[in-house]
Amino acid sequence: MHLKRLEIHGFKSFADRINLVFKPGITAIVGPNGSGKSNIADSLRWVMGETNLRNIRGTKTDDVIFSGSEERKPLGMAEVTLVLDNTDQTLPLDYTEVAVTRRVYRSGESEFLINRVPVRLRDIQELFFDTGLGKEAYSVISQGKIDAILSVRPEDRRSVFEEAAGIMRYKVKKNLTLKK
Ligand code: ATP
Ligand code: MG
Repeated sequence: MHLKRLEIHGFKSFADRINLVFKPGITAIVGPNGSGKSNIADSLRWVMGETNLRNIRGTKTDDVIFSGSEERKPLGMAEVTLVLDNTDQTLPLDYTEVAVTRRVYRSGESEFLINRVPVRLRDIQELFFDTGLGKEAYSVISQGKIDAILSVRPEDRRSVFEEAAGIMRYKVKKNLTLKK
């Protein structure tokens, strides 16, 4: 499984619809300060179901929506679509390409889609459990994350290994069942 495309529209500094295509191998994103490099990483985390706004450098839900510039009016919606190549069936879906979309409107309303079918946030989070992707995973390593992994409590550190070992899915299901 690998990241094929990232489509961003109205998310943070990206007022225009952009389509980033990732070829096999290493991709580096370069640009001047403030040009939106970190916003791309934020969009990736967000579409994978991040709910902690601090992790995407925000405080309110609508901080992710383009807030306008000297030449452009603010937008009413932010949308990010992540397209993954699933020919190896890493994701438990019968598709060779999986598109995950997240949208949020200024009204606060939000939408989640998998291959254009509306789903719940939880479905997106579950889709990524134990794949190495997703909000609790290690696919996006931010500045400081390595230090955090080394310094946190052993139980927190264990969750990184549990995700890698592929048992996160079962732990979350167990906890949900116990809560019922
Ligand atoms: P650096 O090299 O300093 O790390 P960067 O390329 O990572 O820079 P980002 O942090 O991705 O830059 O982008 C910051 C820019 O995004 C700022 O100019 C900020 O005003 C803009 N920005 C953030 N949120 C929004 C928003 N909701 N609407 C419009 N612009 C936004
Ligand atoms: Mg940055």
